[in-house]
This record gives sequence, C-alpha cells and structure tokens, in this order.
Amino acid sequence: MKRKSEQPILPGGTIGILGGGQLGRMLALEGKRMGYRIMILDPSPDCPAGEVADHHIVADYQDDLAAKQLIQMADVTTYEFENIDLGIVEELERRSYLPQGHQLLAVTRHRLQEKKVLKQGNIPVAPYAEVRNLDDLRTGLKQLGTPAVLKTVTGGYDGKGQWLIRTPEQGKEALQDVQEGQVRILEGYIPFVKEISVVVARSVQGDIRCFTPVENIHRNHILHMTIAPARVEPGVLEEAQELAKQVAKRLQVVGLLAVEMFLLKDQRLLVNELAPRPHNSGHFTYDACTVSQFEQHLRCICGLPLGSPRLLSPAVMVNILGEHVSPLMKHLPDLPGEAKLHLYGKKERKKGRKMGHVTFLGDSVDMMINEVNNLGIWGQEVKQKGQGDGVFSP
Ligand code: AMP
Repeated sequence: MKRKSEQPILPGGTIGILGGGQLGRMLALEGKRMGYRIMILDPSPDCPAGEVADHHIVADYQDDLAAKQLIQMADVTTYEFENIDLGIVEELERRSYLPQGHQLLAVTRHRLQEKKVLKQGNIPVAPYAEVRNLDDLRTGLKQLGTPAVLKTVTGGYDGKGQWLIRTPEQGKEALQDVQEGQVRILEGYIPFVKEISVVVARSVQGDIRCFTPVENIHRNHILHMTIAPARVEPGVLEEAQELAKQVAKRLQVVGLLAVEMFLLKDQRLLVNELAPRPHNSGHFTYDACTVSQFEQHLRCICGLPLGSPRLLSPAVMVNILGEHVSPLMKHLPDLPGEAKLHLYGKKERKKGRKMGHVTFLGDSVDMMINEVNNLGIWGQEVKQKGQGDGVFSP
C-alpha cells in the first residue's frame, strides 16, 4: 500500500527487497535481527536471500501478480542491484513506498548520465567523451590521449564491457554491436596509485553519515581485498568523505551510495563510479563497525535515525570466489580467531562467482595482509606497499 505519512517504519513492519543475491541476504539478516519481516522478489528459487527471508516471491521482476503482492505486503521496498528494469522500479515507486526513487537508479546505472551529473556538480571525474561510431572514437582518442578505456554505458560489472584501447582499430570490435543511436563512453586512462571507496548513507530527512574510506585491490576485474581504513594520508581520508557527502547531496540519495574513487600521485581524488546500494567494499562494516552498511541502509529507508558508522577495529576483507572454496575448506582450521567467515549459501561454485568473504580483524592492516598471504587460500600474494595494480596495465 502506498505510504502516506512520513512516520518511521518500525520493527514488525515488512521490508520488500527486489533481488535475492548476497546483498539481499545480508540486508535480510540485519533486518531480521532488528525485528523486521523480510520479503524477497527474485526469480531463482534457491537465491541466497530466499533461505533467510520470511517470504520469497519466486517470480520474474516483470510479473504483475508478484508486484501486486509486494505492494500489498511490504511497508517499504528497496533494490539490491542496479541492473533491474527501470520501468519496474518507477512503477513500484508510484504504487508503493520506495524512498530511494527511480531517479537515483536512472543516473547511476548509466555511466554517461552519472559522469554528466557529477561534472555539473563540480565533482572531479576522469576526462571522457561520448562515442557513437568510429569517427567519435578517433576524435575521442585524439582529445583524451592513449591509452583510453572504452566502456558500455549500462550493464557492465566486474570488468565486463570494458576495453583498454590504444588505436581506433582496437576499438572496432567493441563498436561492432553498437546499434544506431546507442552510445559508449571513452575515458582517459587514469594512472592512479590506489583505488579507494566510501560508503555514504543519507536518510529521508537528509542526515548524512560516511563509513571510513577503504582501499580496494582488484584481481581479474573483480574485487579481491578491501583494506579498512585505506592506507592514505589523513587529509585524503577527510577529502574522500567530503566528496562522498557532496555526491550524496547532489543526487539527493536516500539509502546507501558507494562512491568509488581513484587516488592520483599528486593526492587528488577522482570519482570513478557510483552504486546506490550496499557494496562489496562495505562488507567489512558487518564485523568492524558499530552499525553495518546493511543496517544503515535499512535505517535510511525506514526513516529511523542513522547509526554511528564508527570503525571499531581495522579490518581486511577478502572475497571468496568459486575457485577459493576448496582451499578455504582445507585451511579453515588455520583462520585466525579474529577472522569472520561469511558464506552466501550459493550451491553452484563457478570460477569468479562470489561465494562469500572473510573479514580479518586486528590492530594492524599490514599484519592482516601477511596473514592472508600466508594462508595459501587466495594464491598470488598481495603486495604490502603502494599497489597501483589496476586491472588495466597500459
Ligand atoms: P569500473 O567498472 O568503472 O569500476 O572499472 C573497473 C576497474 O577498471 C576499476 O576498478 C579500475 O581498476 C579500472 N578502470 C576503470 N576506469 C579506468 C580508467 N579510466 N583508467 C584506469 N583504470 C580504469
């Protein structure tokens, strides 16, 4: 039922979640702990969130009956992934209470829209150009220099739909399936020294809180490790939080926004990408902060006061992909006492599929990185100092 008043939704109320992946599962677990009822809409009968929710509607997102059920039963609805059909979110916003709104999703799921909005708000981003054909690509490469990164504007994740290109010829393949009127984005290659991110929360009332900025290390385009707090100058930590707040205000965010940034050699920050939901780089908050990103998101959309995002302990989060499950099981007894294991209940182990994560807690992130390296679960060691190991090497 469409909510009329701005009264908070108290425990006992029902939270509807579009999408039943690991983010939905962790939202559901936190929601249950807080005393809410959880309703998931996801077409897969054995999705990770289904097994912990009170109710799982197994149906396509387009299913009218499923939408009606959600509208009738949920006091508030949220989404846990941004590749969901925008029309469905728009309709649910009209017919029910979906405080994040479709507009935030419309901007953040489209790289070009996102860059435009950020640039208009004087938020620093990588230089970019719109590319519709080979001529645009030639002009773009002249303007931005080489190499450059060509990306699809929607649908890309974990490095899919991205090409590092040096010549227009290299971009031809990427442009082959571009239909009339479609567009790609070409970004100048950024020789960053670190990739960092900030998860920021904004309540319905406009109150804003940030979690500590973290440092992210990717392997094969997938997040491998998050180090909290990021090993950067204190001034950079502050500036990263300020930037994240500025972006959240600019976009009138309700709920969480993950702001990914590049740190340059001269200590400047550029905003790379936004996600209007809990983020993999915020999983450490579950074990290391006073309030987790999942609880914070639920507080935002339910109209409760925001919790304190204080970091209680330095933390290192490492993802468990399909190929890590066997070595993890073998080395499980070797995990230190302060390591917290999270598995998402996914049955099929595939290479590169996110199956879970481990959060290490301790006094020194460098010591925790050594522990991770010594466990022999994740193969290739993570270098200790200054990483700069972006997924593209020019
Ligand atoms: P994205 O999907 O935009 O987050 O990109 C995935 C990864 O590609 C980032 O985490 C970076 O490691 C790398 N990347 C993306 N854009 C650029 C860029 N303009 N310059 C250098 N590396 C980039």
